[in-house]
Amino acid sequence: MEFLWQEGHTAHATAEEAEAETLRMLNVYADFCEQELAIPVVKGRKTDKEKFAGAAATYTIESLMHDGKALQSGTSHNFGDGFAKAFGIQYTGEDNELHYVHQTSWGMTTRLIGAIIMVHGDDAGLKLPPRIAPVQAVIIPIAQHKEGVIEKAEELTNLLSKKFRVKLDSSDKSPGWKFSEYEMKGVPVRIEIGPKDIENNQAVLVSRTTREKLFVSLDNIEEEVERLLVRVQQEMLDAALKNREEKTSVALSYDEFKEIVENKGGFVKAMWCGDTECENKIKEDTSATSRCMPFEQEQLSDKCVCCGKPAKKMVYWGKAY
Ligand SMILES: [Zn+2]
Repeated sequence: MEFLWQEGHTAHATAEEAEAETLRMLNVYADFCEQELAIPVVKGRKTDKEKFAGAAATYTIESLMHDGKALQSGTSHNFGDGFAKAFGIQYTGEDNELHYVHQTSWGMTTRLIGAIIMVHGDDAGLKLPPRIAPVQAVIIPIAQHKEGVIEKAEELTNLLSKKFRVKLDSSDKSPGWKFSEYEMKGVPVRIEIGPKDIENNQAVLVSRTTREKLFVSLDNIEEEVERLLVRVQQEMLDAALKNREEKTSVALSYDEFKEIVENKGGFVKAMWCGDTECENKIKEDTSATSRCMPFEQEQLSDKCVCCGKPAKKMVYWGKAY
């Protein structure tokens, strides 16, 4: 029941500095998710009901899992000076007077490991983004009992391990078994090398995303592996983005909203009047919660999807983990 997390706290002289730091960290987290983990996120602000108790504002990045459920992937809070006033946290300003600080707090947890599994995995097993994969490429010798094959595979391993996280598997298991095993473990690139390849001064690269086979010359194999790792990383982000787009719907009426949450899942974009009452009703009726009020607002209609009163914000809704 335990999890690990990373958390930071800062204290600032002004409200503006605290707000800027809160948003800066949200962007650090968003970039980390998208660039390193290949998980696209929606950036936005939590409603008062969903924000951190006592915070002036909570910002969040929300991602969508393959099964259509939302996952809060990181949060950044602007505490304002509320906690400083409650606990007497002060600093001496340039005016030589005591002032209350403005605080921020932000964090991410190991639940992101779950997100990597649930966003990218497929029926063959894990799919790890190259930038974080513990093994980026596995080298599998073919017909390794034949003369020179193991030696060449070892030579290739030594060369590539200067630049990449590589592993040589020269165990007694059959190549087919090894292929499936490393697919299941999510290794982004497989490199096959056998007697015929050695004869042709080549190796075979296979991507975990497309399973396409590339025959590449051993003379520039470092560049080829690099290029393929970059491509796999991009393909994983593109696929996750496509999945999120396919599972994001717009609801203009409450019937439509309920129908989507029940039968399709995913994110539902809908207008909201700003009242907690409507949020509560939506949660009660559908078990979907407001994920965030995205920074990128759209005017879908001028009425709240729940009560029909004038709408203030477009909100992403969804069932969450
Ligand atoms: Zn309403």
